[in-house]
Amino acid sequence: MRAALRKGIKNVEVIEMEKPSPAADEVLIAVKSCGICGSDIVRIQEENPRWDEIVLGHEFAGEIVAVGESVEGWKVGDRASAAPLMPCMKCDKCAQGNYSLCKGYSFIGSRVQGAFGEFLRVPAKNLVAIGNLSYDQAAFIEPITVCLHPILRLDNLLGKDVVVTGAGTIGLLAIQIFKAMGCREIVASDISEGKLEMAKAMGATIVCNPITEPLEDVCARELEDGAHVVFESSGAGPAKISAMQVARGRGSVLLVGTSHAPITFTAPQFEAITRKELNVVGSWMNYSAPFPGAEWTTAAWMMEAGLVKVDGLQTHTFPVEQIQNAYDVIYNNEELWAKVMINF
Ligand SMILES: [Zn+2]
Ligand SMILES: [Zn+2]
Repeated sequence: MRAALRKGIKNVEVIEMEKPSPAADEVLIAVKSCGICGSDIVRIQEENPRWDEIVLGHEFAGEIVAVGESVEGWKVGDRASAAPLMPCMKCDKCAQGNYSLCKGYSFIGSRVQGAFGEFLRVPAKNLVAIGNLSYDQAAFIEPITVCLHPILRLDNLLGKDVVVTGAGTIGLLAIQIFKAMGCREIVASDISEGKLEMAKAMGATIVCNPITEPLEDVCARELEDGAHVVFESSGAGPAKISAMQVARGRGSVLLVGTSHAPITFTAPQFEAITRKELNVVGSWMNYSAPFPGAEWTTAAWMMEAGLVKVDGLQTHTFPVEQIQNAYDVIYNNEELWAKVMINF
């Protein structure tokens, strides 16, 4: 089978690999679509030889082509997406249903071979039905669950003001979810004017380019009393600092984006957290009980119900043979891109 494997930093080659076969409790999926995740982008340029051995890709959908003997409820020909985490199911975190906190986990596309390969072994319990969604659309289920994981921990959002920092795929999906949940003002902030245009198309009511005007000033002018909820998806240090400043008293700050550099708060900036009694919520991955969690069924339903539309987010699509071109779009960063999709 064909599989895309890194061969040195920022270089990806399509090679022939042996086709896997499913264990008793697994199915074999013929991958049709797999999105490139921000974490894949980091891995392709990281100085870590492990990424020359593991096929990446964990935002996928495809068709079941073989079924292990003990699998029930799925058959050859079924279309599905799947959760990539394989928690140990033995530790106390797993027993509590906090699978994202499991330390003894495996993961499709970072610890075992992933979905930039033509065929993929997946535990049947990880499968998610995709109804009438296209394979490309279904490959967005995973990033939508990343948004839903912290949002589903919040109280009702009807009439509330929210700020989304970072208008990449995750931020643009979060904007649509907040709109569907009945938020009043949805402020999107990003340093790319193109991304801000996309944010408006997704439902942002106010946009802010912090290079032109600080987010703090925009929120002070446009919001009654700061944001009830701030969803930080950019990973950028300045955005994390601003997030604490623009949240209202007792507001929630959802920290989703991953940072790759130190973040330094001044004392007054940090005091915003204590003085306003902020609810600072860390969010990691996208799982809850019963595994893989309501995030997954809700994500598929939101797309089927038309509450989240992803077609406008898929800016680029490449066959796997051209996966190097896909990464080059991202690394060159010359054209507007959000989700870059790989097809088989
Ligand atoms: Zn991801
Ligand atoms: Zn565990």
